Amino acid sequence: MGADRREQLARNVTLVRQRVARASVAAGRRPEDVTVVAITKTRPASDVRILSELGIVNVGESRDQEARPKVDACADLGLTWHFVGQLQRNKAGSVARYADVVQSVDRAPLVDALARAATSRGRQLGVCIQVDLAGDRAGRGGADPQEALRLADLVADREGLDLLGVMAVAPLGSDPAEAFGRLATVHDQITSRHPGAVMRSAGMSGDLEAAIAAGATHIRPGSALLGARAPLK
Ligand SMILES: *Cc1c(COP(=O)(O)O)cnc(C)c1O
Repeated sequence: MGADRREQLARNVTLVRQRVARASVAAGRRPEDVTVVAITKTRPASDVRILSELGIVNVGESRDQEARPKVDACADLGLTWHFVGQLQRNKAGSVARYADVVQSVDRAPLVDALARAATSRGRQLGVCIQVDLAGDRAGRGGADPQEALRLADLVADREGLDLLGVMAVAPLGSDPAEAFGRLATVHDQITSRHPGAVMRSAGMSGDLEAAIAAGATHIRPGSALLGARAPLK
């Protein structure tokens, strides 16, 4: 069972690395400039451990309750933890304890709560502004493009926070190339004011090629690495 799982994940990691290599070359980019953040939500710490042995160093989670014990169980692995889920302000203190990067910052009160939590813990938190590409704030969070610029300025000014860049999810049923193109436009506006904020987190299992073509520096595959998930409850 354990050995089977390891083989399965090794195969998946190889496949994702091949897709990254192919898409990078097609885009005239270097594969090593695309960082894989493995999204391990709903998966046990034992899977994270196997991914770590397979060379994955960036891991992402989307729910605080689930992430907290997993991070603790993997504390010896030296991983970089990304929080990518919708975040309630009252969870900011908890997330600031273990996350290295919060990719899903999409409103001012959250900036405030994270900054206060980070400084009180003597930590420095990386932050991405999540951009809503659907234009309806429907499902998955994100600030509209105008708001994203304003939030980037806010984050850049706050002690305890480092503005790293932007994150987005392509809307369901959209053309990901078009959606990620809009993300690139917003990101360019942000980097013109904050030249260090070069992180562009885009692309999941189904659309990582389109994201790489649109300049993603970080992709977030989950199911391509770990298999199909049971629906989140
Ligand atoms: C679940 C999730 C992913 C991974 O999705 P897959 O389709 O399994 O690759 C990536 N990003 C975010 C924000 C997620 O919530």
